[in-house]
Amino acid sequence: MSREAVESLLQEKKLMDLPYERILSSMCTYPHEIAIYAHKLFLESNLGDSELFPGTKEMEEKVVRMIGSLLHTENAAGYISTGGTESNIQTIRAIRNRRRKAGMRDMNIIVPQTAHFSFEKVADLLNLEVRQASLDPQLKVDVNAVERLIDSNTIALVGIAGTTEFGQIDPIEELSALACDRDLFLLVDAAFGGFVIPFLETHYEFDFALDGVSAISVDPHKMGLSTLGAGCILFRDPTFLDELVVATPYLSTKQQYSLVGTRSGASAAATYAVLKCLGREGLQEIVHECMRLTSLLICGTKRLGIFPVIEPVMNVVTLKLPEGDVDRVKKAMEERRWRVSLTRSPRALRLVIMPHVDEETIQYFLEDLEDIL
Ligand code: PLP
Repeated sequence: MSREAVESLLQEKKLMDLPYERILSSMCTYPHEIAIYAHKLFLESNLGDSELFPGTKEMEEKVVRMIGSLLHTENAAGYISTGGTESNIQTIRAIRNRRRKAGMRDMNIIVPQTAHFSFEKVADLLNLEVRQASLDPQLKVDVNAVERLIDSNTIALVGIAGTTEFGQIDPIEELSALACDRDLFLLVDAAFGGFVIPFLETHYEFDFALDGVSAISVDPHKMGLSTLGAGCILFRDPTFLDELVVATPYLSTKQQYSLVGTRSGASAAATYAVLKCLGREGLQEIVHECMRLTSLLICGTKRLGIFPVIEPVMNVVTLKLPEGDVDRVKKAMEERRWRVSLTRSPRALRLVIMPHVDEETIQYFLEDLEDIL
């Protein structure tokens, strides 16, 4: 085919994709303009063979240090993963490998009922049991329930700082104390919340400031405005990275600790660029605006008699609708070209107020919601 014909095919496909403006169901958004620039500049860079790309490697190391410092550690070890799923798999794999070396078998981990579905992949790939702890009425994990599930084969606890469905923050402080007490690894899944919680007006303890937190997963490709394919794994104890190492004899680089082999340096460069460009203040401004719009949305729905399942902690809103109305409203909204999602339990309408949402969008959304109701 000619170049023009291929271009026109691509344009045709692009038109089939939805623009983000009316998407309220996703934790992804348009990348920051500087991220797009950096991504293009480092498109061919392969961090799987990082000795060939020392500039990109340096950016990856700096990103790990910058995010580490945001999350209260100066010495964290980690790398830019492909996203929250890889981060969850790899952090749990590291502790699984360590305990396996020590002779443990039939291991289990304990996650909240609200854990992301990536933990199903963790269970399958790592061959361990994933036990689900129940929640309290505010949809935070019940620490007593976690404690009851611990046995001699438990290797790790997981707490979520920004649950996918409700945007709730688990009691990480209590989980940290429990992890210290029972000598367990504690992973904080802050894939979404890692770039939100540090900038909220309310202070939450959820990171390495707590002694029991062993690892944190945080995704620059969500609220960090990087390009897709940017997650970040951080271990408090750098020796956990060694548990993931394989030798790579025929590459320039002699070892790899990532799950994937060839991996894009472009998303690492994009993350570096956004963090340098925005800094803490820029990120804070973005979070404040998302929270302002979240409040605006909630005020609007309350005027319509629709109340949230929990008062939003971050920029995730879940709305209680009369039984039987949830699917109808979702469908009707979709007919008006909105994309919204549903939570599982309790069933509610779920909206994520990402940086691509503006005040006008919230007004239009509320008008359509009122009309449909
Ligand atoms: N963990 C949490 C809390 C999430 O919200 C998500 C995705 O929404 C993930 C993990 C998985 O991230 P990814 O889709 O980047 O693999």
